[in-house]
Amino acid sequence: MKVAVFSTKPYDRRFLEAANQDKTHQLHFFEVQMNEDTAILASDYPAICVFVNDNLDRPTIAKLAAGGTKLIALRCAGFNNVDLKAAKELGLTVVRVPAYSPYAVTEYTIALILTLNRKIHRAYNRVREGNFAIDGLVGFDLNCKTVGIIGTGKIGFLVAEALMKGFGCKILAYDPYPNPDLAAMGAKYVDLDELARRSDIITLHCPLTPETHYIINEKLISEMKKGVMLVNTGRGKLIDTKAVIEGLKSKKIGYIALDVYEQEANFFFEDFSNEIIADDVLQRLVTFPNAIVTSHQAFFTETALNNISETTLGNITDFETGKDCPNQIAIE
Ligand code: NAD
Repeated sequence: MKVAVFSTKPYDRRFLEAANQDKTHQLHFFEVQMNEDTAILASDYPAICVFVNDNLDRPTIAKLAAGGTKLIALRCAGFNNVDLKAAKELGLTVVRVPAYSPYAVTEYTIALILTLNRKIHRAYNRVREGNFAIDGLVGFDLNCKTVGIIGTGKIGFLVAEALMKGFGCKILAYDPYPNPDLAAMGAKYVDLDELARRSDIITLHCPLTPETHYIINEKLISEMKKGVMLVNTGRGKLIDTKAVIEGLKSKKIGYIALDVYEQEANFFFEDFSNEIIADDVLQRLVTFPNAIVTSHQAFFTETALNNISETTLGNITDFETGKDCPNQIAIE
């Protein structure tokens, strides 16, 4: 099948071409993001392949439909960037990669917690500058700390398990669909307010939906323990970033690690090191010594990239051959 691949980086090309060695599909790579202005590039392509920051809103999907596109193949798990209702109405099928490596995101989440707590990002810089002092780098033992996990699906479960079994943490969990296996391991499901009140660390692993938009907001932050650590490897809009900045300034929030950011589509995955970054919120955020921001790289392992490529091409083959695709997003 002829596939237009958007937001292509060298690594996307490498892994997709490796998975397409037998040339089952004709892959055409575009570096630009998919949006209303670039949708025209997909004319006459029956399938497009997109990533987390491509914008598949109704006007974009209408242009894709007019150009003959029938399939949107997401090479990611989250689908908050696709107007599913519009896709259905305009006759487009949407497929995704629901699980390419929950371990990749889990391990990255733990790395962020450890880095923030033990201030490894600061120690690294100090030593490179010949500063071997450790004053100001004191951390805390994770053992026996209470960690609140919001969203206990594939990734949230593994994060909880790693923290419980690996570090002896206590786990509080919030999820409208509690996981009995996690409860059996000793995690306690509570409501969101109790999780906020009792947790030393709070980490987000729920999808971005209308219900979870700004789930971390000024009110919830006000209920948290002073000095709480927040970690977000979910989606940027789970957090009201301006409220977080106020929380950091007042010291209510003691640490924050963000691998996702609400305006990330304007910056992430691109090099702006020679530019003026016109986003005061992002720029303020990176000035805090107790904040770590990375550009959506929690998924970024060889294993995950292999799985993403193979599943995406399999999804496209299923669509082309009329087979039921287990990764098709059911649209009500
Ligand atoms: P999953 O579908 O297995 O789990 C999501 C869990 O969230 C489910 O248990 C669900 O019941 C729960 N949930 C739904 N609504 C909720 C709500 N209102 N409050 C609390 N919990 C709620 O998904 P997953 O594979 O564990 O991934 C979780 C999220 O991580 C994805 O949606 C995606 O946005 C994000 N993600 C980020 C990266 C990255 O590179 N940073 C990579 C993969 C996934």
